Amino acid sequence: MATTFFLLWLSPLGSPDVPASVPSLTVLSYLLAPLILWIWLSQGTGWGLATAIWSCLLAGFIALASRQEILFWLPVELIALSLVTHYGITRWQRQVKIRAVEVEHLEANSNTSIQTLGRMLRLETGLRFRLERYQKLRQTANTFGATLPLEQLVEQITLGVLELIQDADNALLYLVDSKTLSLELKQATGRGGGKPIVKTKTGDLFDHWVMRQAQPLLVEDVKKDFRFSEMFAGKTQRPLGSLIGVPLMTENRCLGVLRAEANDSEKLSSDDLRLLRIIGDLAALSIENSRLYSRMSELALTDDLTKLYVRRYFEKRLEEELVRARRFKSPLSLLIIDIDRFKQYNDTFGHSAGDKMLRYVGILLKQAQHAGEVVARLGGEEFAWLLPNTAADAAVQKAEDFRRQMESAHLALRRAMTGATVSIGIAVFPKDGENVQALLKAADQQLYRAKVGGRNKVCFAE
Ligand code: GH3
Ligand code: MG
Ligand code: MG
Repeated sequence: MATTFFLLWLSPLGSPDVPASVPSLTVLSYLLAPLILWIWLSQGTGWGLATAIWSCLLAGFIALASRQEILFWLPVELIALSLVTHYGITRWQRQVKIRAVEVEHLEANSNTSIQTLGRMLRLETGLRFRLERYQKLRQTANTFGATLPLEQLVEQITLGVLELIQDADNALLYLVDSKTLSLELKQATGRGGGKPIVKTKTGDLFDHWVMRQAQPLLVEDVKKDFRFSEMFAGKTQRPLGSLIGVPLMTENRCLGVLRAEANDSEKLSSDDLRLLRIIGDLAALSIENSRLYSRMSELALTDDLTKLYVRRYFEKRLEEELVRARRFKSPLSLLIIDIDRFKQYNDTFGHSAGDKMLRYVGILLKQAQHAGEVVARLGGEEFAWLLPNTAADAAVQKAEDFRRQMESAHLALRRAMTGATVSIGIAVFPKDGENVQALLKAADQQLYRAKVGGRNKVCFAE
């Protein structure tokens, strides 16, 4: 359409009616008009349009004045062209504005998208971090669940705390002693596997606070916390800036205190405390399980028939008592007691009568034993009696008393009163042996001597 107008506009110039004497001013208006249009276009204002119309009118009047009627139409065409162009430009500008608004919208949208993306990235990082923590926590829970002996378990728990709470330098675990009802340090682990210095094995004021209140504790700065700062002043045994602690609870019963600490203040946060609570709950359950397990193992340590301890447990106790005897340089005696001709007894009275006799010997041994002593059935018709803090003389005396008691004892069966004698071998620490196996062997040798010597005897190394 613009091209049609341009051609229309130029048509008078090509017309044969245009005399050669067209005033140069009129021609100039043809030159001026595009220039003015250009200015108007570039400014895009109503003033540009007005200037164009006025210059065209001026050119028209000049044409009329110079009696060039044909040229009169030229400005009219110009005006029409200007109006049409103005209309076009206005529409174009409106379109441009609409586009600008659209671009703005797009920009705003893309800004929002960028922000959303940023938020999602942060969220993803957070989720990844939480997932990692969760996985570590699951691993820790599995380790706790699979660890049954208490000594190993408490170590695993403190290691788990240090693994999960990155800013903690030490992890401590206390358990409540069932007799004294006070805290007792079971495990202290430092970052890197070292052992932190812990002088107060029964816990400090922070641990006591956690146990008394049965509440979690967060102390961001031990020197500034108004609850403890006065009491705590100058009592530090190792660098201590901040700490968190949780009670180990099962069914409203406090088993102990789990604590994580950092050398510097403001290191541990409520986030860490939340995590420690989860670890604490898992730990409490596992400790309870471990205790149940050891109680069950204890049950498995007794012999079904006589209810005396089995050999495994006896040897363990002997080992422990030997450690004590070595430390306190005290004597210890071991008796091995064997029923004489028990095979014959079984053959005569039957196997169940033999069982009764074994139970009977067990009862008599239990009656004869004093506090701190251990009696056990080593197997078959062989028994052992551990006498801590007992020298040879006293041991021989006890053995003789028991031999005599057996000699005079009678077990009533349905048809008869029966009896059995025993032979006893004695070994004394440290004279006859310094370890479990040596002592058992020495006592066994003395038992053999008693058997060879006619049975119903007590023998010991002179
Ligand atoms: P010695 O005086 O030399 O010790 O002779 P003994 O017959 O007592 O020893 P031996 O080792 O020859 O026989 C031990 C017997 O104890 C054989 C076995 O039938 C019996 N016995 C082992 N365990 C049990 C048990 O649980 N119940 C019963 N009724 N008998 C048992
Ligand atoms: Mg025997
Ligand atoms: Mg035997």
